[in-house]
Amino acid sequence: MKNYDVIVIGAGPGGMTGALYASRANLSVLMLDRGIYGGQMNNTAAIENYPGFKSVLGPDLAKDMYDGSTQFGAEFAYGSVESIEDQGDHKVVKTDDGDYSAKAVIVATGSEYKKLGVPGEDQFGGRGVSYCAVCDGAFFKNREVAVIGGGDSAVEESIYLAGLASKVTVFVRRDKLRAQKVIQDRAFANEKIEFVWNTSVTEVLGDDMKVTGVATKNNQTGETGEKAVSGVFIYVGNLPMTAAFKGLGITNDAGWITTNELMQTAVPGIFAIGDVREKTLRQITTAVGDGGIAGQEAFSYLETLK
Ligand code: FAD
Repeated sequence: MKNYDVIVIGAGPGGMTGALYASRANLSVLMLDRGIYGGQMNNTAAIENYPGFKSVLGPDLAKDMYDGSTQFGAEFAYGSVESIEDQGDHKVVKTDDGDYSAKAVIVATGSEYKKLGVPGEDQFGGRGVSYCAVCDGAFFKNREVAVIGGGDSAVEESIYLAGLASKVTVFVRRDKLRAQKVIQDRAFANEKIEFVWNTSVTEVLGDDMKVTGVATKNNQTGETGEKAVSGVFIYVGNLPMTAAFKGLGITNDAGWITTNELMQTAVPGIFAIGDVREKTLRQITTAVGDGGIAGQEAFSYLETLK
């Protein structure tokens, strides 16, 4: 079994930054990912809120981050992590392609947006269907968009989108919102936001190129309809990628990994960063910030083992 000082699980922006900081502190580092490096950045056409760039293509930023993160010797290997065995001052990371050992582990496996599961959703992903208003809202300036969902994210993002779009129609499955009262009040007071109650979106409609609208069904009357929009923002939940870490007791009830501000989990020597953490803003900037802290803290942790 190959041994490292630090293994980083997940090579998104968080993981790559963790690897950069740990390897620059002269630690031996392995980054493991079940896909190509870059994480969610690979699903992002233009990133307009990462400092240093007016606009940058997600895959280009991923490549630049990868080059930077491996310049001090951090290695990259493919592998889907299935579990971590905590053996005190070392951890065994088990993958579908063999086991590795490390003194410290940084979990950076991110999250997945829950899908609505209707026809057209996948087909128009990145061509009008989005799960991130902060990321993609600016592409719909002065155009009509639909938001699907009734929780905090759906309503907060509707308010954000109303600052850009000409109109925001929010489709809510039930007859009320689950969002906090204060956010609801703000949304109800916004003239650009219209709520359509008891209504499910049953299909995302489009032409050869992009989204043109949504098909809807009233859950009480059964009445069907269509609404013309250029963008569809789906907020029906977010899922942490933590199935492999369930046995460690580091996740909260919803499955997110809980850390303190040093990115330490409940298990000494296991850190968690980026979208997989219990946190409020899941963005590249915040993942990168977490990664810097964890890389440095992994170094400090290893010092305590000497
Ligand atoms: P991720 O980027 O999700 O990376 C996690 C990595 O872990 C992945 O590579 C995955 O393959 C790997 N992984 C997961 N499980 C395992 C496992 N068991 N074993 C091995 N590897 C595993 N943010 C912005 O700041 N600006 C934007 O404009 C923006 N636009 C976005 C557009 C879209 C469409 C989406 C989906 C997100 C966007 N975001 C944007 C959010 C941003 O991409 C994320 O906040 C950020 O990528 C989180 O980084 P991360 O390193 O925590 O996780």
